[in-house]
Amino acid sequence: MADIKLSGVRKTYANKVQVIHGVDVAIADGEFIVIVGPSGCGKSTLLRMVAGLEPITEGEIAIGGKRVNEVEPKDRNIAMVFQNYALYPHMTVYDNMAYGLRIRSFSKADIETRVQRAAKILELGPLLQRKPRELSGGQRQRVAMGRAIVREPAAFLFDEPLSNLDAKLRVQMRLEIQKLHRELRTTSIFVTHDQVEAMTLADRMIVMNAGVVEQVGRPIDVYDD
Ligand code: ADP
Ligand code: ADP
Repeated sequence: MADIKLSGVRKTYANKVQVIHGVDVAIADGEFIVIVGPSGCGKSTLLRMVAGLEPITEGEIAIGGKRVNEVEPKDRNIAMVFQNYALYPHMTVYDNMAYGLRIRSFSKADIETRVQRAAKILELGPLLQRKPRELSGGQRQRVAMGRAIVREPAAFLFDEPLSNLDAKLRVQMRLEIQKLHRELRTTSIFVTHDQVEAMTLADRMIVMNAGVVEQVGRPIDVYDD
């Protein structure tokens, strides 16, 4: 678990266009933050900088007091969840979840404990020996979440993870994420276009527009305007 602090963050891509114009936000340990804003306002760019996947042009981002650009990629413990969850088709559900731990040299016993714990939270126990093609769309999404949570990351970053799903599955997965957050209290940043997702998931919302933060507040305060 960790707090996340963005100070004077700016981003200019190689084409010299500045897309983030000075963002300052302090996110508390265990907080669930939802970022909303029109397409192209810089939500993904901001998230990718927090994840250490995109260089920060100016300013700094610290997770648990450590600057992201000073931490080696292998030592970063941030789990990012995208729209398109790519599972390894030839591996079982168990192996898909274990993979990220195996490549980090976790012991067999630790891997077993973590995978079983995640499987219990996500109700994947009976499916551990199946291959992805033998799962429904919703089950595959849960495996992808499982792969993120076994790492016990300091933070979860969600980039519109539900926007490709049909309405029913979308509601189901939103409730799943809500439940997960109640159990694990992992600091989370969730980007979405969906007002219901923002209202139900957010402790606080960040409203972005054209590369700046326009508002930070509880959903009730943001939607009251
Ligand atoms: P959002 O997630 O809010 O839709 P993005 O962060 O994806 O916004 O994009 C913000 C702006 O940065 C957009 O104008 C987009 O075209 C631009 N942009 C995104 N990625 C790149 C890139 N790799 N190179 C240049 N411009 C980019
Ligand atoms: P981690 O747990 O370290 O995030 P992942 O299991 O997500 O690792 O991915 C490890 C590497 O394998 C990444 O480079 C990723 O792009 C790639 N990868 C992920 N899914 C697949 C897949 N289904 N087939 C092939 N390569 C994949």
